[in-house]
Amino acid sequence: MYTIAIHGGSGTINRSEITPEQVKQFRQGLEAALDAGYNILARGGPALDAVEQAVRSLEENELFNAGKGAVFSANGKHEMDASIMCGQSLKAGAVAGVTNVRNPISLARAVMEQSENVFLLGSGAEDFAREHKLTLEPDDYFFSHLRFEQLKEAQKENKTQLDHSKKNTGKGTVGAVALDSEGNLASATSTGGLTNKKYGRVGDTPVIGAGTYANNQTCAVSCTGYGEFFIRSVVAYDISCLMEYKGLSLKKACDYVVQDKLKNRGGEGGLIAIDSVGNVELPFNSEGMYRAWCNEAGKGEVAIFG
Ligand code: ASP
Repeated sequence: MYTIAIHGGSGTINRSEITPEQVKQFRQGLEAALDAGYNILARGGPALDAVEQAVRSLEENELFNAGKGAVFSANGKHEMDASIMCGQSLKAGAVAGVTNVRNPISLARAVMEQSENVFLLGSGAEDFAREHKLTLEPDDYFFSHLRFEQLKEAQKENKTQLDHSKKNTGKGTVGAVALDSEGNLASATSTGGLTNKKYGRVGDTPVIGAGTYANNQTCAVSCTGYGEFFIRSVVAYDISCLMEYKGLSLKKACDYVVQDKLKNRGGEGGLIAIDSVGNVELPFNSEGMYRAWCNEAGKGEVAIFG
């Protein structure tokens, strides 16, 4: 039963602060990304391609905090993080703090498939991108007035900001998980991180096991929320471990980690997950999460609020 789920970030997504027109745009963005991944699965293509293409679509939509829509770091740059994992081979690729790369998720995949390493950082990862002919873009490509206003606001208050708080209309980190017709799982996540982040801060998104994990024996997971909490709780791997070692269902594992463990530790956010038979879970403990899923039987939804 091939299945795909995607997210466009979680957080304080308040109905009263989003216009119907904006809701429409977000839904269209989610639908386009879902279709990009779903069409690959429907043609019998691999889960890995489906999650990469879904995330690329979200990276190229400036409404979401990844790729073109990435938030500003304190230094005025767009420092992006991404990771991808194949549930069949357990291979993974990740990049952190990269600038000017149009599709960080494809760079993460190139690291996975064309290097001996898992995780590349900053200018080294950009050198790798150039050598492997990934598309680079000038700073202007990533500029948006909304993001710049968000930076100035965060700087005024001297804080780093998750990209889903009040007065924000641009929304979060993106991710995808998929199960293909061969029974293979894959997961991908991409982000600009937190507005006004400093000192080379990196969140959970590129950390395998924290923001992203996939294992054919258990599940595929992609997270969104305050990265520091997700790293400390090793969220994505924890869900897989609860299934593998304790025999929990995907639903029980997700509920426990997101609504109990993470919440009690103060970690706001959510995740999307699929297990090896196509069950889908989209739990979050924040007000909302941009999310969508669809399976072979045509079941699915596109949703934003709680
Ligand atoms: N998890 C991301 C980070 O901490 C942020 C997000 O999900 O919006 O970098």
